[in-house]
Amino acid sequence: MDQPKCIFCSIVEGELPSTNIYSDDHCIAFNDINPVANVHVLVIPREHITYLTETTKRYEKLLGHLMRVAAKVAEQLGTAEDGYRVTVNQGVNAGQIVDHLHLHVLGGEQLNSL
Ligand code: AMP
Ligand code: ZN
Repeated sequence: MDQPKCIFCSIVEGELPSTNIYSDDHCIAFNDINPVANVHVLVIPREHITYLTETTKRYEKLLGHLMRVAAKVAEQLGTAEDGYRVTVNQGVNAGQIVDHLHLHVLGGEQLNSL
């Protein structure tokens, strides 16, 4: 039986709505549907990658690019100067619920210390 389609792949393909914060050939960024901070943006690769831990050396450039885009988005949304956090939840213990690699960009307010 077919696997249910990944929701973030559906967003990449425009089949599900999202706010367009940033977009290029390799990734897109959009607001989290359930924000936990004033700024809560997700940066995701267009390519379906399930886990950070499955990335190999050939993904180094893409992973670096995602981090740069996270910084660009923070700048764009005016939270760069006061500070922000970039997080990847990997696997069950970290609470990963969407199995398509994504970076959370959190800011716009004082964040709880880790
Ligand atoms: P996690 O897998 O725990 O790192 O986080 C997945 C994040 O995706 C959560 O913060 C959700 O609120 C968010 N999310 C799930 N579905 C959507 C959607 N359709 N649009 C935007 N954000 C979403
Ligand atoms: Zn996907």
